[in-house]
Amino acid sequence: MKQFAIFGNPVAHSKSPLMHNLAFKKLGFEGCYGRWLIEDGNELRDTFFRLGLSGCNITVPHKEFAFEAADVVEPFAKEVRAVNTLILKDGKLYGYNTDAPGFYRALQKLGSVQSALIMGAGGTARALALYLRTQKIDIEVVNRSAKRLQWFNDEGFTCHTWDSFTPSSYDVVINTTSAGLTDESLPMPKELLDRALENTQYAVDVIYGKETPFLKEAKRLNLPLFDGSEMLLQQGIIAFDYFTDHRYTLDEIEQAMRPFLSL
Ligand code: NDP
Repeated sequence: MKQFAIFGNPVAHSKSPLMHNLAFKKLGFEGCYGRWLIEDGNELRDTFFRLGLSGCNITVPHKEFAFEAADVVEPFAKEVRAVNTLILKDGKLYGYNTDAPGFYRALQKLGSVQSALIMGAGGTARALALYLRTQKIDIEVVNRSAKRLQWFNDEGFTCHTWDSFTPSSYDVVINTTSAGLTDESLPMPKELLDRALENTQYAVDVIYGKETPFLKEAKRLNLPLFDGSEMLLQQGIIAFDYFTDHRYTLDEIEQAMRPFLSL
């Protein structure tokens, strides 16, 4: 039986074991997936080998440590310097980032997307902006403060702080801020947000586990939408595809894994 795990801090809340074990069972793959608290990210590599794992996922705050721990890193993960999936092959650790491709897979289910407004300028926003650009999607970024926008500016993205922002029209408006995660705040002043939402086709939040004020607002406008649980599922499907060395199609994995959302 192959062993897998998720590493993080905290990790007790993670739904990944449920998601992957359900898919192992439904697809008849001999695998078992657990969770492992890692306090010091420098111990990630040794822990992986000590536990005899075949693969693992990495969550907050260790994705950069996982990038350092890998022997070989796929190009997109190298660009964002963040790895969320490690696979052992021929004694070497291969690092991947399935967060942004997973997000893109979820986005495609909404419909055709050629332009996007990303609210927020943290690690998630960086990964999504870079990946969506590779898919020929026009990106605009808006953030509460200027500091984190510097990177986007250097990368050639159009970006604004709230003060200098006039929303135009977008196919999708994406919330990557943590506004609404533990409070009831909106990711942008209401007037700006409503103007953006009134001129978009879809709305997406990367937060999961609760309906954020942003998603409530999008729902009020009857916009097709999804939240972070769909992104979680889709990044898991792509990681599972690596874990099982492409034995199943992504649709087969999705069929086996999706029911975890209602567990
Ligand atoms: P970061 O800490 O790197 O960035 C947070 C961003 O949110 C910053 O741009 C910050 O703006 C902005 N922000 C924070 N509070 C507010 C607020 N009250 N109003 C407006 N903007 C605010 O976070 P991450 O990118 O790592 O994570 C962001 C979110 O994504 C989290 O909620 C996390 O749970 C979620 N996530 C979901 C995943 C999934 O699989 N569904 C995967 C990864 C992350 P400023 O620069 O001004 O401080």
